[in-house]
Amino acid sequence: MSKKSKLVDFRAVKEAVTMENVLSHYGLLENMKRSGDNLSGSCPIHKGTNPTQFRVSVSKNLWNCFSECKRGGNVVDFIARMEDVSPYAAALNAIEWFKLDPERVYSDSDRAAARPQEPRESKESASPAKLDAMPAPPPEAKPDGNAPNAPLKFRLDKLQREHPYLIDRGLTLETLVDFGTGYCEKGMMAGRIAIPIHNVDGQAVAYAGRHVGDPPEGIPKYKLPPGFRKSLELFNLDRAKKESGPLIIVEGFFDAMKLHQLGHRKVVALMGSSLSTAQEQLIHEHTDRRSQILIMLDEDDAGRAARNDIAARLAHFAFVRIHVFEEEGQQPEHLTAAQVADAL
Ligand SMILES: [Zn+2]
Repeated sequence: MSKKSKLVDFRAVKEAVTMENVLSHYGLLENMKRSGDNLSGSCPIHKGTNPTQFRVSVSKNLWNCFSECKRGGNVVDFIARMEDVSPYAAALNAIEWFKLDPERVYSDSDRAAARPQEPRESKESASPAKLDAMPAPPPEAKPDGNAPNAPLKFRLDKLQREHPYLIDRGLTLETLVDFGTGYCEKGMMAGRIAIPIHNVDGQAVAYAGRHVGDPPEGIPKYKLPPGFRKSLELFNLDRAKKESGPLIIVEGFFDAMKLHQLGHRKVVALMGSSLSTAQEQLIHEHTDRRSQILIMLDEDDAGRAARNDIAARLAHFAFVRIHVFEEEGQQPEHLTAAQVADAL
């Protein structure tokens, strides 16, 4: 580990984030039924349809699925299942999404740190009996399993391309049209910048809604449709796979759009700082031993904590390099064309 690497204090993350925060992040909270200390709904992990099989104890900050998943756990376990990533990567997600205080949630590697000792399955998740005061619901008639994200049956039209926020972020009209991105005035993404996400075959599977500017506390920067699993997609892969040259992996939509605009079109975004196993598989399918991959995550705690792990995983099947920015807080979106060429 480099000297800048940090270890995550899992306990601090679990204390700082509630299941309600996480459900709200996924747009699932409003669909849950509240009864006393409990929330119940259909299971977003295995995408069940039975509305009583997924339970949350608010006071204990634990969840449980009585159907296909047959297990439960804490907030970190929940994110790990939803994103299909390790508990470590899930904790990094939580830190990023809920803007947790780095002082609290990262510990220096020379202190007794949580990561090596954190069991992959925490005590809570190993004992769903803790929640057994709730009666188990009847088994689902027809479990629908880990289905892929279904193609959208609609398009958001009349998106406003030339919004001041988008111009401020340095995107040209051509790029915005190219990515189908714009400010949305009506519907579920009203008041947000709508960015269509396509699967590897080029079918639109969701819109991400970016808050215009920095959101107030408690409001997520990005809104995704309920049930959408971003861990199953890589933003822009449908087009990047047709380009030649090194594959650049970035965190955000805007990083990808900006690099594309600068002429580096073989770029995909993780839509976060973690690489899910499904995303790893997608990259594997579209690279070979001679392929070059450049990992260009944000120069912050989350990016630094994630990039070595991602590089190690991709190095099994491609030639991988990590880009390190000179200044704290820099991200691919800030680079000039010459700087990207340099990095490559
Ligand atoms: Zn389940």
